[in-house]
Amino acid sequence: MNKVVLATGNAGKVVEMQSILEEFGLEVVPQSQFDIPEAVEDGLSFVENAIKKARHACELTKLPAIADDSGLEVDALNGEPGIYSARYADGGDAANNEKLLRNLEGIQERNARFQCVLVFMQHALDPTPIICQGSWEGEIALEPKGEGGFGYDPIFFDPSLSQHSAELSAAEKRQHSHRGKALAALQAILRKP
Ligand code: IMP
Repeated sequence: MNKVVLATGNAGKVVEMQSILEEFGLEVVPQSQFDIPEAVEDGLSFVENAIKKARHACELTKLPAIADDSGLEVDALNGEPGIYSARYADGGDAANNEKLLRNLEGIQERNARFQCVLVFMQHALDPTPIICQGSWEGEIALEPKGEGGFGYDPIFFDPSLSQHSAELSAAEKRQHSHRGKALAALQAILRKP
């Protein structure tokens, strides 16, 4: 089995990605199993940050790496929190959700989408990393609902399913989510002979 590092410290992402990638005969080792610091995410786009995370993991582990950079774009907030989604309120998921709901108080237009960029890099100097993208359209709900997922899942509402992301099973979320779509695109590339 080929070993690959999953370059994220986010436990929610590890759960969503590990089993899917292992279907490809990849032995997926979360970055937390190595004693290495998190990458500095100072890029100005999801793509740049995903490349930085993957390269950082390759450099320090000497293994191929897969990185995910993702976030939530809210139209009424000009795309915020975007690439800063993880540290929007500097106090974790619950604080992020509260800040977002506060900033949308009294605002009717609540369209939003999750974005995910996945990067698969063979080694730190890989000149052609595989880059896949997925997005998920929805709305920011008025209140949180559901116990599943992580991050903004309790306040992200998919009108086509009439459910909050945190109410979906893991399989349902994988079918509809930004990460599920980006993983499907990566799967299609890895399947090619
Ligand atoms: P990153 O680790 O820098 O890519 O930050 C991603 C952040 O975006 C997470 O910490 C969450 O706040 C948010 N996010 C990304 N994907 C999801 C998801 O599937 N559900 C809920 N929040 C997400």
